Amino acid sequence: MRAMVLDAPRRPLCAADLPQPAPGQGQVLIRVRACGVCRTDLHIVDGDLPHPKLPLVLGHQIVGAVEAVGTGVERFAVGERVGVPWLGFTDGTCRYCRTNRENLCDHARFTGYDNDGGYAAYAVADARFGFPLPAVYSDVQVAPLLCAGLIGYRALTLTGDAERLGLYGFGSSAHIIAQVARHQGRRVFAFTRDGDEAGQRFAREVGAEWAGGSGQAPPEELDAAIIFAAAGELVPIALRALAKGGTVVCAGIHMSAIPSFPYEILWEERSVRSVANLTRRDGEEFLALAPRVPIRTIVEAHPLEEANTALARLRDGKIRGSVVLVTDETALQGSR
Ligand SMILES: [Zn+2]
Ligand SMILES: [Zn+2]
Repeated sequence: MRAMVLDAPRRPLCAADLPQPAPGQGQVLIRVRACGVCRTDLHIVDGDLPHPKLPLVLGHQIVGAVEAVGTGVERFAVGERVGVPWLGFTDGTCRYCRTNRENLCDHARFTGYDNDGGYAAYAVADARFGFPLPAVYSDVQVAPLLCAGLIGYRALTLTGDAERLGLYGFGSSAHIIAQVARHQGRRVFAFTRDGDEAGQRFAREVGAEWAGGSGQAPPEELDAAIIFAAAGELVPIALRALAKGGTVVCAGIHMSAIPSFPYEILWEERSVRSVANLTRRDGEEFLALAPRVPIRTIVEAHPLEEANTALARLRDGKIRGSVVLVTDETALQGSR
């Protein structure tokens, strides 16, 4: 099968012809139609995250059709559309799994990191962790919901009922979560790289009432901020923008070092926290909510073989919204 393979960190992906995988017990074989590209994929390529499976097929926002099922699979039938997210396996028995926190499972396995992902013509996945997808979305449009949307939604939930919400880094996640936040009656303030006027215009188009550079102060204090960018220096900047009792949620899997800051910007019950991974419940809630908002994803689609171009454009901040690799040409026709 066609695949784009990471042989070692800090190297471009290579086009390869791999043997088609077979579904084991409890697994589905998926004919991939589209797969979202995530900032996390860049961190894996860059060697920021330890011990990826190598060689590795990246990609944890997989959309495809079930081609075959292994023994014991009842959740999906052949031909059905399925979405596969980052969370690929949990043990179900550790203290985190037993307390509804499977996102923190001690023995979790992640798609496109511990297991081969969706930058390929086929993928296998544990059927228990796949999601049926809302029919109103095309394959290309739905792919970014599986990580950018889903983990963004978990981050949004962790802000509680914050009314004035700051979003730092206005890419794939933020353009989705701004729409959800507006739907929930929140007010959205967007922060891009300083001087990125096109990014600020885009943020206003998808629901931000104010957009500026991260070096700017918002026009009002914020009740919460979510940092989607991987820049640790944004943490004290976001803290300084918060009202009393406000929360900064760091939504990325990796961030550069956070500079030290005076206690007074944390004082008055402000907090800083991270969000890690997802639970299946997050996925079910979010995928039910998406068509009700309704979320519209803005997607740049590339053929699978252009994976390195897609990653480079993401790295350079050139993507407006989300970027998705398309393995099946009919999925490309279904894109906007
Ligand atoms: Zn567990
Ligand atoms: Zn991701």
